[in-house]
Amino acid sequence: MMASVFQNFQPLAAIATTPTGAQILQPLCQTTGATLWVPNSLSTLEQVAVYNGSLKDHIASLWPNHRALVFCLAAGAVVRLIAPLLTDKSSDPAVVVVDQGGGFVISLCSGHQGGADQLTRLIAAQLDSTPILTGAAADNGLPGVDVLGIPFGWYRGEGDWTRVSAVVARGEIVQVIQEAGSTLWQAHLRDGHPFYFGFPEDSATTESESISPKARIWISPTHQQFASGSDLPNVQWYPRVLWLGIGCERGTSKQLIEMAIRQTCQRYGLSENAIAGIATIDLKADEVGIVQLCQERHWPLHTFPAEVLRSVTVPNPSDVVAAEVGTASVAEAAALYSAQELNVSKLFGNVGQKATLSEQPLLVPKQIVKSANQVGAVTVAIAQSPVEYTGRIGKLLLVGIGPGNLDQITPAAKTAISSADAVIGYSLYINLIASLRRPGQIIEALPITQETQRAKRAIELAEWGLTVAVVSSGDCGIYGMAGLVLEELRSRGWDGKTPQVQVFPGITALQAAASRVGAPLMHDFCAISLSDLLTPWPVIEKRLEASAAADFVTALYNPRSRNRTEQIAIAQRIFLKHRKPDTPVAIVVSAYREDEKITLTTLDKMLEIPIDMLTMVLIGNQTTDVHQDWMITPRGYRV
Ligand code: SAH
Repeated sequence: MMASVFQNFQPLAAIATTPTGAQILQPLCQTTGATLWVPNSLSTLEQVAVYNGSLKDHIASLWPNHRALVFCLAAGAVVRLIAPLLTDKSSDPAVVVVDQGGGFVISLCSGHQGGADQLTRLIAAQLDSTPILTGAAADNGLPGVDVLGIPFGWYRGEGDWTRVSAVVARGEIVQVIQEAGSTLWQAHLRDGHPFYFGFPEDSATTESESISPKARIWISPTHQQFASGSDLPNVQWYPRVLWLGIGCERGTSKQLIEMAIRQTCQRYGLSENAIAGIATIDLKADEVGIVQLCQERHWPLHTFPAEVLRSVTVPNPSDVVAAEVGTASVAEAAALYSAQELNVSKLFGNVGQKATLSEQPLLVPKQIVKSANQVGAVTVAIAQSPVEYTGRIGKLLLVGIGPGNLDQITPAAKTAISSADAVIGYSLYINLIASLRRPGQIIEALPITQETQRAKRAIELAEWGLTVAVVSSGDCGIYGMAGLVLEELRSRGWDGKTPQVQVFPGITALQAAASRVGAPLMHDFCAISLSDLLTPWPVIEKRLEASAAADFVTALYNPRSRNRTEQIAIAQRIFLKHRKPDTPVAIVVSAYREDEKITLTTLDKMLEIPIDMLTMVLIGNQTTDVHQDWMITPRGYRV
């Protein structure tokens, strides 16, 4: 199965010219679903595609129809190969070079908009090698100005992107005027970032120091007219917040609807790039002009029954319309309803936004557009949603990060974390993976007790369209977040597909602890959590009895907390009924973490050793023995 984290880079091609190169790229091609191209001389290798003729010609043929090219070849050679093909950083594919030793991955070209920086991070995580990013944004710990809005589906608009990026790279002040869309990105900037939110004129009265920005970023549905001689470089992002309510006569042409939208947007200074979608009455769900236009422009079409539209208060109701379709407004009501519907959560904190529904319900009241040479008539109204439509299908990556040390996390899990737009988890674990985070990522650390809130928050962000990594220590499916997230999805009537879910296994605490003392889990074993927060104690006690009686090696999770001290003593008593007092017991605190502590003891003495919530208790079976410092459970029972 292709790892979904690489989906954004398909089609992806890999190119190697030596057997070593092919060997390095092969596993990567397996996970990414990429084709591995090799010259004729390597045609005996398995799972490769062979190109004939010159590599130069072959690259030229791959260039226009691939999102990404990964080479295992000298960087200089790659530069010469791609030089004649380069056109523009907004359209060239991502070019990544892996060195012949497999130790380094270089983002060579199209780092931001082409995603090569991101692809480089993902490949480096897969190959366990060092990513080399030479762009200024990668180095200054800030998201690139030209990729800022990508997670939220914003449209990259006009402006001098190169100059604005250069101002950020120099650390000079950049004014951000955000009138729409999520401000989540603002909350996750590093300290000392160069962005200034607001208007310097406002600050002059309150702050003694006057602020003079060197560049400006507009985030708005309004099309900005950048003054031509201005020294200040400007760029514009368009969050998709505009819902267009459309009403039309049956059979109205697509051209007329398109014209009506264009004229209305122009008249009100709004950009068509900020359009989220079209809303109308359900009677129009099959209106050919509307349906075709939505398909062409990738606009979702929301339709509502007359009863729903009737419930919306609008500025310009019409008796004629009411008599005809059963609601006094189609365009205004549908626009307002859609804009409100997408308000998935109040949690997004959209500060600094001019138009919220309550203050300014409708940006554009209904406009009627007709044309002398087109049949039909169109009514257009526009409402602004407080939350943008991302146009993306969200993903939930449920990731186990292992016991603590970064060596103990799988490359797949690392890749998942660096691919995510947002990372959610308990603060301790978020800190453990700090080095995997990338600039601009939304990081939400929540206290340990708030697992359900964490699950809900992750789902909310994913339903909105983000790729969200939910991290658990150890394995996320063993007393971890995976179950909580899936349970919550189920209770919301999830269809199993949207948002997409992928689970990344991790080394669980019982494996980590076992590895530090030898081979205690060699035979049949049981994991039992002593926490009665979510499980009634009688159930736990029954399992302890059963495991002890059946001679399972037993791993106790959550053995003792500050307020829950009795359970471990009861567990000991139960095991003593079935096993010898000198049965070996391993007590491992914080396996693979800085404060790791390992003690080998026996069943009768185990309570003399400090045991807390970061401890794993492993109780041997009848045949488990200790040799030197090693706990060994034989592979089979000897008679
Ligand atoms: N999902 C985790 C378990 C979460 S329950 C996993 O698969 O490992 C939390 C319990 O796991 C702790 O109370 C402790 O008993 C155990 N635990 C987690 N990490 C540990 C570590 N590094 N060392 C020892 N025990 C650990």
